[in-house]
Amino acid sequence: MTARVLVVDDILANVKLLEARLTAEYFEVIPAFSGQEALDICARERVDVVLLDVMMPGMDGFETCRRIKSDPKTQHVPVVMVTALDQPSARVQGLEAGADDFLTKPVDDIALITRVKNLARLKVLNDEMLMRVATGQKLGLPVEAELQKALAGRGGRIMIVDDHPRSAARILEALTKTHDAFVEREMHTALIRLAEGNFDLVIVSLSLTNADGLRLCSQVRSLDRTRHLPIIILVEPGDEARLLRGLDMGINDYLIRPIDRHEMLARVRTQIRRKRHSDFLRTRIEKSVELSVTDALTGLHNLRYMEGHLKTLVPDCLAKGRPLSLLIADIDHFKNINDTHGHDIGDVVLKEFAARFRRNTRGIDLACRLGGEEFLVIMPDTDIHRAYQVGERLRSCIAAEPFSANTDTKIKVTASVGLATLDQPDDTPETIFKRADNALYAAKRRGRNRVVTDAA
Ligand code: GH3
Ligand code: MG
Ligand code: MG
Repeated sequence: MTARVLVVDDILANVKLLEARLTAEYFEVIPAFSGQEALDICARERVDVVLLDVMMPGMDGFETCRRIKSDPKTQHVPVVMVTALDQPSARVQGLEAGADDFLTKPVDDIALITRVKNLARLKVLNDEMLMRVATGQKLGLPVEAELQKALAGRGGRIMIVDDHPRSAARILEALTKTHDAFVEREMHTALIRLAEGNFDLVIVSLSLTNADGLRLCSQVRSLDRTRHLPIIILVEPGDEARLLRGLDMGINDYLIRPIDRHEMLARVRTQIRRKRHSDFLRTRIEKSVELSVTDALTGLHNLRYMEGHLKTLVPDCLAKGRPLSLLIADIDHFKNINDTHGHDIGDVVLKEFAARFRRNTRGIDLACRLGGEEFLVIMPDTDIHRAYQVGERLRSCIAAEPFSANTDTKIKVTASVGLATLDQPDDTPETIFKRADNALYAAKRRGRNRVVTDAA
């Protein structure tokens, strides 16, 4: 997918110039000639990065940026302010307006492409994360805290590799307000500490007295433990050759000395956000595999899914005064079936049991396998009388016909059923579940193959 870059400048020649450079790097460019036009485009179509001129007649770049960042629909679109060299205060104003990065006119090619690439990647991660978060919310997974942390890009663990005491102290001082930063003067120790883990970013000076910072960068990129760690290098003006080598080996961004602290803070934040986004996505993918929502044997929903669903359903039904009933079914003497016919036949019985359950429940009812030979049906909009009828129907659809485990084995299967309904103002998923479980236990005690409600 090519990133779509919105280039906003009131002067046609400026737009054309940026357009030519960006299209040469295979970005798709959308031109806009005023702040208002930029806002209209952002509202209408997908934009991955905005390059925004500061000085424009009418709505200036700061105001345009503020509006992009205050609309929930566009606030995640990264904005780069394009400032003139003689407007140093524009960086502070840009940060206050919510800008993600800065470029100085005349715009340098390397700077342009590096920044747009960084922010376009961040946007892709952002979009993907927001999508997953939406799905996670449907499953009742808590996401808020992690999401806030990832989006804010604060509190990063940063290592500064610089052996010039004054320079290191200045960087440290600027970063410690929002991050957890330390200075490491020696390259070898730096690598060992980075490999120990949990850093979010390393800033490497290319002006080390007795070492080559680029060597450290290449080692960081080749070690398994640090391969994904963001790297920012500090470059002397005019040292383009080493800057290009750094970019080739995969450093993420650079700052040219003398370092502008606002620029540094903005770039550090972008890298930390990117790192957090990918960490977040990685753990989320692991979690969703582990918590995958269906049970492999029966194809019914699993316990995890049921818990998430009940967590949203119970308070919702209580608030709206709508009935909700729960049914737990447990196969009677299932252990005997396993013992007599073997575990594989036991599995066939479980599958057939689930199939009969599915055929005999309505679309809005949710059948889950709790584990082993226990099943649960969540029945929205169902009072206890209606739930009893469903329970009786399910019990008899199991008992009525012996199960055909294979062509010549027919097995008589029965199940006991416990029911509970939402009827106490302080009910929680746990309390209603517990009542249904008690009812099931009562059904077992009273001789099995029967339906018992918690009220009975
Ligand atoms: P009760 O009527 O009191 O429920 O007796 P029961 O034998 O059905 O209950 P118990 O909990 O003693 O035994 C359940 C058995 O289910 C024990 C376990 O080995 C078996 N089981 C659990 N999961 C599976 C499975 O996935 N496949 C098979 N074949 N058996 C399973
Ligand atoms: Mg059983
Ligand atoms: Mg059991």
